[in-house]
Amino acid sequence: MHRLGVLGWPVAHSRSPAIHNAALAAMGLDDWHYQRLPVPPGLFEETTRALGGAGFYGANVTIPHKASALALAGEASPTARAIGAANTLTFAPGGEILAENTDAPGLLAALGFSPAGMSAQVLGAGGSARAAVWALLDAGAGPVWVWNRTPERAERLAAELGASATAQPRPADLLVNCTSVGLSVERSATEDRALNQLRMTGDQVGEYSHVADLVYRSGSTPLLAAAQMRGVGTTDGLEILIAQGALSLESWTKHAPPLEVMRAAARADPAT
Ligand code: NAP
Repeated sequence: MHRLGVLGWPVAHSRSPAIHNAALAAMGLDDWHYQRLPVPPGLFEETTRALGGAGFYGANVTIPHKASALALAGEASPTARAIGAANTLTFAPGGEILAENTDAPGLLAALGFSPAGMSAQVLGAGGSARAAVWALLDAGAGPVWVWNRTPERAERLAAELGASATAQPRPADLLVNCTSVGLSVERSATEDRALNQLRMTGDQVGEYSHVADLVYRSGSTPLLAAAQMRGVGTTDGLEILIAQGALSLESWTKHAPPLEVMRAAARADPAT
């Protein structure tokens, strides 16, 4: 049995097991299985180092472990090192742990077009914002502006990666939301309230050429709803999740995963 999983805390909401197991079945890889690996921060290093010996071939890594995953890996890709975080670990037979970051190429794949030459406004300064800013700059986008609720974090991120911090979201070709605003499925998370937390109005959202939202939930997020209502092209968080997951799965199995199967599983899974 080739075991795979997703390391996180909490991780009960993750759609990755449904997406990956559907893909593995469709690929005829019946001796592969993907599961949740709920591991609290204090146990992350010891548990992760033991996974190879327990029959695990690889693992995705999510909140709050992505920086720790990079730190414990013996070998890391240049992308993971530049971003400062890993979302994909491979446990080599000799006990070595290899780290990769597929969040960055996953975002670009999900966009479906090259952002080269486009200006971009990134919202947020957490782990996923780091990957998004790095991916956009690496793909030739520019200028890339970073806005964050806590401005010092935007300033630090921008300085480290070569972007520019802004006090307010600016008009640009591309808008990429990397905050968790819109994650709540409660009806109280109205569009206006969510946009207000991002210091934007619906009409401002309508001025971008394309809007991507990393947040995924059942139904549209308030940001994507505002964009769609104004005829702006969008990329949703599930598509980004599928794209980065497909890249991880391909790196482990050496086969191209069936994206349509992954999409259907992602949208059918009731876990949020
Ligand atoms: P993170 O490191 O915890 O960062 C969270 C960000 O959200 C910070 O910039 C934080 O600002 C901001 N934020 C939180 N609450 C806010 C509020 N009420 N108003 C304004 N800003 C607020 O998280 P992350 O790993 O970057 O993930 C961010 C989101 O992306 C999550 O919803 C996650 O599920 C999603 N995600 C999706 C994918 C995918 O494949 N689709 C991949 C990765 C992440 P402060 O600095 O001011 O706290």
